[in-house]
Amino acid sequence: MPTRPCWVEIRTRSLEDNFRFLASHAALHAELLAIVKANAYGHSLPLCAPAAVRAGANWLGVTSVEEGVEARALCPEARILVIGGVFPGQGPAVVRHGLTAVVWELWQLDELENAAHAVGAHAGSLPVHLEIDTGMSRQGAGVNGIGSVLARFAPESPLKLEGVMTHLFAADEADGRITKVQLRRFHDDLESVEAAGLYPDWLNVGSSAALLAGQAGEIEALANRHGMKAMVRPGLALYGLIPNYDPAFSGEEPATLAAARAQLQPVLSWKAAVAGVRTVEAGAVVGYNGTFVATETMRLALVSAGYADGLDRKLGNRFSLLVRGERAPLVGRISMDQSVLDVTDIPGVKAGDEVVILGTQGTETITAFDHAEATGTIPWEVFTRIGARVRRVEV
Ligand SMILES: *Cc1c(COP(=O)(O)O)cnc(C)c1O
Repeated sequence: MPTRPCWVEIRTRSLEDNFRFLASHAALHAELLAIVKANAYGHSLPLCAPAAVRAGANWLGVTSVEEGVEARALCPEARILVIGGVFPGQGPAVVRHGLTAVVWELWQLDELENAAHAVGAHAGSLPVHLEIDTGMSRQGAGVNGIGSVLARFAPESPLKLEGVMTHLFAADEADGRITKVQLRRFHDDLESVEAAGLYPDWLNVGSSAALLAGQAGEIEALANRHGMKAMVRPGLALYGLIPNYDPAFSGEEPATLAAARAQLQPVLSWKAAVAGVRTVEAGAVVGYNGTFVATETMRLALVSAGYADGLDRKLGNRFSLLVRGERAPLVGRISMDQSVLDVTDIPGVKAGDEVVILGTQGTETITAFDHAEATGTIPWEVFTRIGARVRRVEV
């Protein structure tokens, strides 16, 4: 049965191209872990995880064990890193589905060790990545030192310290000063790891901002110093967007960033349709509470998308969507399932016309940055708020 027309189109070929570009452009030997958490930033895990693997990704990054289980069913061979950590009772699923947990709390190590012992796992057979907090105060060991966590990787433990990870929280800032401090702290932590007689394979650091701004070079240098391999974790760039860097940066944009601007392609378009068109006289009010009043005879198009689809209610009376290749202002409040466009100046609009909420139509484009700017947020949130009921279609 045809469904109500509000859908997302995912160009998986663009995602594959983006991954290959990032991998080559990294110009170093860092492994790229493809971040596909939160339903691949709203782009659909079932479409995007296999596409990343087709493009050469050996590693996928998800938030939770349950996302990892879903990713495992789609990508039987991939390494799957659970970056949000394990929660009580999730150890057995980590073991059963061959997931790799990020850990930082002693009880997480207990949870995983118990699950490994329960299936008779032998020493060093369950890999984990230890996250260290180098200044973000979010997750990671470090507040009370990392000694107690490191002591748990005794030779007889079923756990193997395969990677050490940290998260950079200001890689998009101009001078890289904070990142330098974080990497210096991380270096000290890595010395402690070595002093404990542990030699993990992976140094797991940095998201899109670090990768594109060229800090991947510093990350790789740090990995080399410690005899480790570098792993970088791009998300947004994989979906074709470049983080907004601190304006001071744009003075002398690194060559890596300019190349990325030319190459990365957005993967997602979000569309709906005109459900009907009506003509109203001057003085007619539009939508809940009549926040828009027609100033003349106007033509209005009803659109099959509302805030339950993720079209932010704050966009009412302050944003435009595309129809017939032109920008049509949203008038009145956005309803749960519908919104209204002023198409007075766009001839020929009729029921069934495609409406572009995010993406390109003719020569006009609306980006996730445009949405984010209009609603005071960031593209990550725009993508992840596109409603679960909006179909994701591969194109
Ligand atoms: C989401 C996330 C990333 C990816 O960030 P982008 O800015 O989208 O590239 C990398 N690492 C961690 C730990 C994350 O949570």
